[in-house]
Amino acid sequence: MKIDEAIGKLKELQARQVAYNQAMSMLSFDGSTSAPKNSFECRGRTLSFLSGEVYKSFINKETDDLLNYLLENKDSLDQITFRIAEEGREEFDKISRIPMQEFMEFMQLQNDANHVWETAKLSNDFASFEPYLAKIVDFKKRFANYRDPQKKPYNVFLDDFEKGYSMDDYDAFFSVLKENIVPLIHEAVPRGKSINDGFMKISYPVDKQRLLSKKLVSIMRLDPDSFAMAESEHPFTMGINKKDVRFTTHYYENNLASAFYSTIHEGGHALYELNTADELIYTGLDSGASLGMHESQSRFYENMIGRSREFTSYIHPHIRGLFPSQFADVTADAFYRAVNKPEATLVRVEADELTYSLHVMIRYEIERMLFNGDINVAALPGTWNEKYREYLGVTPPDDSTGVLQDVHWSEGMFGYFPTYALGSAIAAQLAASMGKAFDYKSDVSQGDLSRVNAWMTDKVHRHGQLLKPKEIMEFACGEPFNPRYYCGYLISKYSE
Ligand SMILES: [Zn+2]
Repeated sequence: MKIDEAIGKLKELQARQVAYNQAMSMLSFDGSTSAPKNSFECRGRTLSFLSGEVYKSFINKETDDLLNYLLENKDSLDQITFRIAEEGREEFDKISRIPMQEFMEFMQLQNDANHVWETAKLSNDFASFEPYLAKIVDFKKRFANYRDPQKKPYNVFLDDFEKGYSMDDYDAFFSVLKENIVPLIHEAVPRGKSINDGFMKISYPVDKQRLLSKKLVSIMRLDPDSFAMAESEHPFTMGINKKDVRFTTHYYENNLASAFYSTIHEGGHALYELNTADELIYTGLDSGASLGMHESQSRFYENMIGRSREFTSYIHPHIRGLFPSQFADVTADAFYRAVNKPEATLVRVEADELTYSLHVMIRYEIERMLFNGDINVAALPGTWNEKYREYLGVTPPDDSTGVLQDVHWSEGMFGYFPTYALGSAIAAQLAASMGKAFDYKSDVSQGDLSRVNAWMTDKVHRHGQLLKPKEIMEFACGEPFNPRYYCGYLISKYSE
């Protein structure tokens, strides 16, 4: 085979994978937003059929040989082609070591377990979910063993969601957080009790909240011709490609902060996808470098921008314009305090910026115990409640607000949670680096995010997956990832 011929084959293969993935993404997005309820079953069959096609067109000897040949001749490849081949090789090894039959069985189990979990959460019934979760854990342990018998299973999963990260890395990361944030929480949470946020939880008609979300995405400068916003139970972002990014939010009439911050958070994810470089379209590299990097963008816009004094002061008159009676007596300062009220609560997705990482750390520690064989699935609710008592001083009154609250485990996504905390910490470091380049807070106080977006695009977005997270951190900050920026940021904000 000649090198040009091999590159042509790789591009053809890649274009086919991208086309399938775009079609499947659209089906999933439709399923989570506007599709009628009964469409579920047939969509499941279609998605399963298409996944099978993707599997067959990728996992075969021809692809294996092609990837080997290209990587043996990597000096003849341009950077984009090399990264496609490198990612392809990893993906191939990840999937091909799992027997097809077991892979399909697991897909089915995931689908069933997810349904059982939904009902179990609503009816506070961990016992009905437990056997499914136990099977998922068994499958995951087996898969980890097929893929890399030398490695501890939990390290295999951690690496899946954040390449290069293992328990050693996360242990070090969380111990820095624990040391710095736990004492701060003990001090800030009791003080926070006097902050009034009751006015955020009165009636805010949803049609007006939709107008506020529109205002937010226009401030964020999301290109209206390349993104669409919809509504779903749990907000999420789906990048079909850089000219077609979808995200959702969820409006609650009695909670102004919920959709407000979901919109900014998902808008941050969307900006990343929208601002990847043009030449990455149809390469499969036109997305975030990792989950942690992706989360750094959503968290940067949500917290460093959206919860800053500058931004809350800027947006305050707009909110008052939309909700004159609800905000009649609410000052910009009161609004700032309300959206930054530190509170020890039970539910991760509703947690404030300060306590958020502890919710994540609890899940990390539990997952680690589960896969290291220190506890079994039956012990999860008890262990969960103990950890919440220990770290946050609260005890879940039931499993719905305890161990059953998150969707991740029902889908077999172990090792995913730590990327949330990592993303928050990366965001703080990027913000510090941006602050050295120019006075971005003064831009934010004017509601002008053009320089902020341009900096982020240059340092992070445009690279997509062309650079790895560690390379991006070096490029953007001139040094490796360091969680001390995050601790410093939280300490200065919450000791105020
Ligand atoms: Zn996110």
